[in-house]
Amino acid sequence: MYQSHYFVKTLREPPKNEVSINAKLLEQACYIQKLMAGVYTYLPLGLRVLNNINAIIREEINNIGGQEIYMPAMQPKELWDKTNRWEELSNIMYQFKDKSDHLIGLATTHEETITSIIKDRINSYKDLPFYLYQIQDKFRNEPRAKSGLIRGREFAMKDLYSFHQDEEDLDEYYKKSMKAYFNIFSRVGLKSIMIEASGGAFTKQYSHEFQVLSEAGEDRIIYCPKYDFAQNIEISKFKEEDKCPKCGRLLKFSKGIEVGNIFKLGTRFSQAFGAYYLDKTGKKQPIVMASYGIGPGRLMGAIIEVHHDNNGIIWPPGVTPFKVHLIDLCKQKNNPLAKKTYHACQENNFDILYDERDVSPGIKLKDADLIGISVRLIISDKNKDKIELTYRDTKETSHHSLVSVLKELKKYYK
Ligand code: ATP
Ligand code: MG
Repeated sequence: MYQSHYFVKTLREPPKNEVSINAKLLEQACYIQKLMAGVYTYLPLGLRVLNNINAIIREEINNIGGQEIYMPAMQPKELWDKTNRWEELSNIMYQFKDKSDHLIGLATTHEETITSIIKDRINSYKDLPFYLYQIQDKFRNEPRAKSGLIRGREFAMKDLYSFHQDEEDLDEYYKKSMKAYFNIFSRVGLKSIMIEASGGAFTKQYSHEFQVLSEAGEDRIIYCPKYDFAQNIEISKFKEEDKCPKCGRLLKFSKGIEVGNIFKLGTRFSQAFGAYYLDKTGKKQPIVMASYGIGPGRLMGAIIEVHHDNNGIIWPPGVTPFKVHLIDLCKQKNNPLAKKTYHACQENNFDILYDERDVSPGIKLKDADLIGISVRLIISDKNKDKIELTYRDTKETSHHSLVSVLKELKKYYK
């Protein structure tokens, strides 16, 4: 992609009306654009990152048997009355009347919808277990939408729902989901810890949250430095400097960004909707369910919060919008080595952004730091026939022939 043709128009300053680091950097670097509090457009660069995150999520969820569907955001009140959540969620759900005076809500979550979909299609224990998920937009009237992509009012969620004969089968899958979640977070470049949190109104048990420790987080966490115990402060009997109930080490406190949440729902929804199956003995049983959420946009925000410096964004290689940022700093336009490098990267399937703009080297380098693509290649009069390769995170620089650049890229992105 030629940068002069690409819709990447960086701003000289971060926008004044943003407080969070992720929104400031993402808007300045032309990844997103705010429409109103908690509502953002993804611009070409931003959509590339979001798609990379979604691809990783899909791969990992497909790996544990997930089958992708797509459910509507617009939902009738009657659906939510089955679980009494029309009133319960009225604070956070956008609710309105359509022209025929029907009450409609924009989905905050999809447990009701999914249960209503599967209830008449499952008859026997032989139909279980199965796993359905979507990546779809949710709407929540969040009171404090000041954290950029971390707290949207319209935001994407990957929500997975699993259906089982009994708790035992659920437990087995629940463990698998934890592993898939850790894989997802580590592949997008986030260190996460799993903590116990409230099971909400659904169960007496805990739910499990995946938290990225960060000052930008809105959650408060108490955790053991050995990570064998961690709880959300909301439900914890423990405080900082107490002894870890598992190993006796002193507990620590941190703020955290909740990037994922998995819940055992038990039979609350299946009973409300009449989702039953016949067990081996022919007895009618309610389907046992769980739900598993991740916010891809929140992940993107969290990645920025932990991976940036004074000059801009530092994308982890797993999600970088382009694999290579090629920058031509030569006085003479259309440098042949730059063109050759551009085509060679394309032929080898390394997505490449090629800065051939007619602007000063200073502007090109400043923009490249801000945009934060993982690998930068510089062609310049000073470097002659060598290509200068710099990693955005370590700033480590080396000089190469084109052949050796391709080797480096293959190693880095394997
Ligand atoms: P929070 O406590 O931060 O409001 P939640 O516990 O209500 O979040 P869940 O219903 O568990 O959120 O949603 C599942 C996942 O969706 C969360 O773990 C998070 O990654 C993402 N998510 C939730 N709310 C938002 C939001 N307002 N903006 C972006 N992502 C969100
Ligand atoms: Mg949650």
